[in-house]
Amino acid sequence: MALATVNPATGELLREYPEMELPEILSILDKAQEDFEQWRERPVARRAGMFARVAEILRVEKEAFAAIMTKEMGKPVAEAVSEVEKCAWVCEYYAKHGADFLADQPIETEATESFVTFQPLGIILAVMPWNFPFWQVFRAAVPALIAGNVVVLKHASNVPECALTIEAIFHRAGFPLNIFRTLMLTSTHAAVAVAHPFVHGVTLTGSEEAGRKIAAQAGTQLKKTVLELGGSDAYLVLADADIDHAAQCCVASRMINGGQSCIAAKRFIVVEGVREEFEKAVVAAMRGYAMGDPASKDTRLGPMAREDLRDELHGQVSRCLAEGARLLLGGEIPQKTGAWYPATVLTDVKPGMPAYSDELFGPVAAIIPVRDEAEAIKVANDTRFGLGGAVFTHNVERARKLAREELQSGTVAVNDFVRSDPRLPFGGIRMSGYGRELADFGIREFVNIKTVVIK
Ligand code: NAP
Repeated sequence: MALATVNPATGELLREYPEMELPEILSILDKAQEDFEQWRERPVARRAGMFARVAEILRVEKEAFAAIMTKEMGKPVAEAVSEVEKCAWVCEYYAKHGADFLADQPIETEATESFVTFQPLGIILAVMPWNFPFWQVFRAAVPALIAGNVVVLKHASNVPECALTIEAIFHRAGFPLNIFRTLMLTSTHAAVAVAHPFVHGVTLTGSEEAGRKIAAQAGTQLKKTVLELGGSDAYLVLADADIDHAAQCCVASRMINGGQSCIAAKRFIVVEGVREEFEKAVVAAMRGYAMGDPASKDTRLGPMAREDLRDELHGQVSRCLAEGARLLLGGEIPQKTGAWYPATVLTDVKPGMPAYSDELFGPVAAIIPVRDEAEAIKVANDTRFGLGGAVFTHNVERARKLAREELQSGTVAVNDFVRSDPRLPFGGIRMSGYGRELADFGIREFVNIKTVVIK
């Protein structure tokens, strides 16, 4: 059985779940379509208002929900609690602003009246990853639902209890039964849902490979997709940066969720003059992430989510070392059961090495020394990804120009690290995907932007 809860801290199989058979999937999609017809009739403000109750459940029971994430994918529990709080925030944010974002927009023409209206599409399939097993789902589902769509979730196979718990939260909050449903499906069988005629859009957060497959399947049916894929975010540390602050930010970003975050700082690009000071500060900060029981409130680095992912990461680190990178910290698999990997620092990372050219999804900091600012920009953009990035310098004017015009990514932070925020659009370019989530941009991805002209 492919859907299972395995505690990555111990390797223990806790529970298996049967995959749904085709008739059950079809029946859920039929019922979701029936409920859609009524859900779409409710005024936006009424739909939005229901999210206050979802937020309340999330806030009151955050510890219990956090414990499920920690058990299924090893997230340190303090981070898991913050993740649940962020889900409540996105509910409250869209409950407050959703109706404004979707209000009709009059446009003056020669006609008596012309306006744009935002109408729902129907069932939206959300294919979601395990790394932020609550946040990714709420980030995608809340705006889609407020816009009048209904959502069916195909969650990652290693977080089935998270998937069922989220479905239960919507039911407990008083939503019609089939407005948010979980399909217990592995990726092999997700194509059935993508192709189903009631499904009018697909949002995927996950790897580049999954993005290509889902987009191809949806493309043959001409269905709209939003893809939030991987990243290899470049953090530029320029000669006039506050080095200690830059190192703290780079490491904090790299180590969120044990390094398993799409918008983690993945390439630390530092100019030669400050390289040594920066390397020392990075190593010191990385040492602060000792591996520990993810269920303990003090733990900053738990296990990775699965042993196969840990082995893949270690393979990438080993290849970098074989190709001439230098190891400053970590880099060895500990002798204990579970998906453990220590905080690791590589330097002298060069083009062609996995830490330069691919995504390292775990607690590994990769330092790329460069001659000067011009080379730093070139290296930052020398990637197939384009999700986030950051620049550290005292020259804020220069940084603004770099951020605005030169760094090719969906988000750039100056003297800080990138984080998602319900008030700001989030998404990538190139192999990091397309479309935007959050803010007003996100709520308008899965709607019919309809033009009405009255003569
Ligand atoms: P993944 O292996 O691509 O899985 C993501 C989801 O896609 C899972 O539900 C998975 O199902 C499903 N999936 C995979 N292949 C599929 C296929 N051929 N057809 C249908 N569904 C398929 O990614 P992951 O390992 O869970 O997550 C890590 C990746 O996600 C990283 O690359 C990370 O950067 C990216 N990510 C991006 C963002 C963003 O906002 N841009 C946020 C978080 C993560 P199964 O589990 O059943 O295989």
